[in-house]
Amino acid sequence: MRLVHSAMFVSLLALASGPAMAKAVTEADLRGHVEILASDAFEGRKPGTEGETKTVKYIAEQWAKAGLKPAASDGSWFEPVPLVQRGQGSATYSFTSKGRKLRIGSDDVILIGKQAEYANSKLPLVFTGAGVTSDGVVRADVTGKAALVLFDAENVPDPFKSPRARREALIAAGAEAVIFVGDSNGNWPLLRRLLLSRPIGLESAERRASLEGAITTEFAVGLVTAAGLDWDQLRAHAKQSDYAGEVLGIDADVNVTTDVYRFNSSNVIGKIPGRKKNAGAVLYMGHWDHLGICAPEGAPDRICNGAVDNASGIAVLNEVADALAKKKHDRDIYFLATTAEESGLLGAYAFAEKPVLPLDQIILSLNVDMIAIAPRGSKVTIIGRGTTPLDQVVEAVAKKTGRLIESSTDANAFIQRQDGWALAQKGVPALMVGGSFADLDLIQKFLGSDYHGPNDELTDSTQLGGAAEDADLHIALGRYFADTRKYKSKKAGE
Ligand SMILES: [Zn+2]
Repeated sequence: MRLVHSAMFVSLLALASGPAMAKAVTEADLRGHVEILASDAFEGRKPGTEGETKTVKYIAEQWAKAGLKPAASDGSWFEPVPLVQRGQGSATYSFTSKGRKLRIGSDDVILIGKQAEYANSKLPLVFTGAGVTSDGVVRADVTGKAALVLFDAENVPDPFKSPRARREALIAAGAEAVIFVGDSNGNWPLLRRLLLSRPIGLESAERRASLEGAITTEFAVGLVTAAGLDWDQLRAHAKQSDYAGEVLGIDADVNVTTDVYRFNSSNVIGKIPGRKKNAGAVLYMGHWDHLGICAPEGAPDRICNGAVDNASGIAVLNEVADALAKKKHDRDIYFLATTAEESGLLGAYAFAEKPVLPLDQIILSLNVDMIAIAPRGSKVTIIGRGTTPLDQVVEAVAKKTGRLIESSTDANAFIQRQDGWALAQKGVPALMVGGSFADLDLIQKFLGSDYHGPNDELTDSTQLGGAAEDADLHIALGRYFADTRKYKSKKAGE
């Protein structure tokens, strides 16, 4: 019903405004791409798998068909992104205190090395509480030592609530090893899952200790008790605001092998060359990757297909590329499909580190992520509102396409969770514009249900109406910002 309806609407529009009026993007156009990208054959588009090979090939074929030119640095479509993935291998360990071997009753230990082999016969342990003090400083002397860190942090300032931030602070302070302590009645399953999910990192930007891992509270209690210390007392001391850690007088002797997998993933990059030289560029981006096989063996559905996240965004990029490539524009228009967003915006960071055009040439980058959320008629919000001088111009273009504006800054809560953030940190005007983050109840409903699970797949009820409208909006934004008469940029010397 809806498809017939919108097709009729399009043809009426075309009649009303003559052949110059561009054809609107339809739900069916988008559905066609999502159907392929989020199919089981693409295995959930995990970087480094057969699913990646199929995904990047499909995107390059679509962009070639649209008339884009390949724009990776070697002239192909594919910009290599060196990634590294680590999995648990085997480990042997023992502990001594005052020359005495300690007997530990529990076996809940995860140890993962930076390199494939790690051996250290005398690694001193230091208890660091939350890792940082209430002012966010590492006061413990962790240089060359193994820092024991409570996974849950109390009394630490905001960025350090995240275990990742505390881990990086300890590494920066010289820790040889960072070992989290998880509560087996609470956060241990989460901690275990984080460490054993074979996380992917960007080879060039890795901040990693030689040894990382986790133990349970039971293990920690057994260890310190055997050394004649009191765990509750250690924890109580760690609450002091100037806590400088406590060297436990325990040395570890560890031998760890780690399954280290280094591989090249790809960002896909294409462009529509502009008519004018040195006039700046518009960049569209969206991540092609998702979580791959994400459920344990034996589960009824093991594939996280990522239909909304982010096959929908790539579908929109494909249609925007197709529409914009039909005409010449003043400025270059780049299209970037990034890898490993789900592992921490890694493809976007790799692009920001080694861009195929000078970053200061980008007058606007528009990221498209999780766009199949809202129905037609949704308001338009801007993630990144207030971070660039472009809000009013973007809104004016949106209003011209018949859209209403959601002018709160609520959606900025997502600013660090999307690829544009990697570019924004390098000073590129980076926005996410559209309807799917305008109604936060709708997005929260998705985040609390199908998000990052096997149920994020294409169904008859997948909402592509808002995405189709947002595709039209992105086409209008591209036409506007790539036109040097309509939009003058100081960056381009105009
Ligand atoms: Zn995601």
